[in-house]
Amino acid sequence: MSLLVHLGNLSRHPAHLSGELEVEELAAGETAQDLVRVDTPLRYAVEVQAQAAAILVTGRLETDVTCECARCLKTFRRRIVIEGWSVLLPLEGEDRVPVVNDAVDLTPFVREDTLLALPQHPLCDPGCGGLPAAPPPEVKVPDTASQQPGGVSVWAALERLKF
Ligand SMILES: [Zn+2]
Repeated sequence: MSLLVHLGNLSRHPAHLSGELEVEELAAGETAQDLVRVDTPLRYAVEVQAQAAAILVTGRLETDVTCECARCLKTFRRRIVIEGWSVLLPLEGEDRVPVVNDAVDLTPFVREDTLLALPQHPLCDPGCGGLPAAPPPEVKVPDTASQQPGGVSVWAALERLKF
């Protein structure tokens, strides 16, 4: 189910909406990043008010995600809470939001701000030291160094044949 706001009664009194958005609604077509997976319905509690040619949505969003630690690859759960979420949606002008059957779908805005709130660099612990037996960074040996000896000798041999 999408999160729809019906505009009909909004001018008379604010609307209070609460419920859950399914994972499919949240992650539709967008994989934020490999290390964080949205796998719990998002819980919302918002108030919607009519403004001059706009609607103002304020409230709270909350969900749980599964993260993979960027350093040690351990899987852990994290709660994402957006307190004081607010978004002003114009009903007129170039940036106006789509109104279908006198209703505005808040789902895309919830989705966008939730994805933005996900950790970019999840760590199981701020002091995570990484993998216990992490090998030292690989030292790259330039290709020429390993190929040069053979190559040189072949060309040197040809040179010798020519003269
Ligand atoms: Zn870690």
